[in-house]
Amino acid sequence: MRIGAIEAGGTKFICGIGNENGDILDRISFPTERPEETLGRTIEYLKSQQVEAVGAGSFGPINLNKNSPKYGYITTTPKPGWADFDVLGTLKRHFNVPFGWDTDVNAAALGEATWGAAKGLDSCVYFTIGTGIGLGVYIEGRLVHGLMHPEGGHIGVRRHTSDSFEGICPYHQDCLEGMAAGPSIEARWRMKGQDLPEDHPAWTMEAYYIAQAIVNAILLLSPKKVILGGGVMKQSQLYPLIREQVQQLLNGYIHMAAVDSDIEQYIVPPALKENAGLCGALALGIRAFENKNMSNFKDKGLICS
Ligand code: ADP
Ligand code: ZN
Repeated sequence: MRIGAIEAGGTKFICGIGNENGDILDRISFPTERPEETLGRTIEYLKSQQVEAVGAGSFGPINLNKNSPKYGYITTTPKPGWADFDVLGTLKRHFNVPFGWDTDVNAAALGEATWGAAKGLDSCVYFTIGTGIGLGVYIEGRLVHGLMHPEGGHIGVRRHTSDSFEGICPYHQDCLEGMAAGPSIEARWRMKGQDLPEDHPAWTMEAYYIAQAIVNAILLLSPKKVILGGGVMKQSQLYPLIREQVQQLLNGYIHMAAVDSDIEQYIVPPALKENAGLCGALALGIRAFENKNMSNFKDKGLICS
């Protein structure tokens, strides 16, 4: 099986070819320019490969409503040329194969559930903490879309008692992303996260905000695994700080080994590491391929329901 995978990021696009085992057989990457150029390069690459399906995990917000005339569009984004652009339609016009389409973070959650940290589980949440904060939600074997798709980066957070930073989200100012994404760390401390020392007070504050998001996810969605990725999480000292804060915030309310004795296995980094996004897109492509074949069987009366 040869499945095309597209990790459509706001900064760079990564395209690759993978198989049903989650092996990435080939990959290329290029900066995200205007959509015509970037999608042109993507199409050119995929055309040079023999693909049986394609999966794309995209930056967003995106339209995931199959009944909408704007299904497959990126909706609102400050990135020049991309707002209200038909990404999926532009790609699909060039290929006669099934396409999977979802947010980059939902894709990452699916990839981790298929081959990574949540393998064998029917639920997980995936937070990415980078230039922005995104949340992918996989529950009872399905990626959550709903009204649009989860936007867990923009939830409200309680301010840390020693934090006077006003927050930088253009919509909500001091939401989670406004307080805890990479650019917020840089604006608060006037230094990039990667340049702050490991024992800097920035990291306890950061852990406090991320822990609140996790606690909300646990209370609302009851996921069986919490996966934290993105550039900021390269600060590996954050994991123990976050786990401790999650326990403090839950304050004994939930009596489960996952949040008591086994929290080290519950709140974890992506097992697919740098390939989390691309493997996620690959998993979307595989699901699209399987769904297409299932519907072919159904059309031929080989499966009832
Ligand atoms: P993007 O979100 O744009 O896809 P990343 O996930 O790499 O990309 O996130 C970039 C953000 O992460 C930047 O704000 C950067 O300062 C921050 N970052 C990258 N590496 C580190 C690091 N080692 N420690 C802390 N912050 C980091
Ligand atoms: Zn916000």
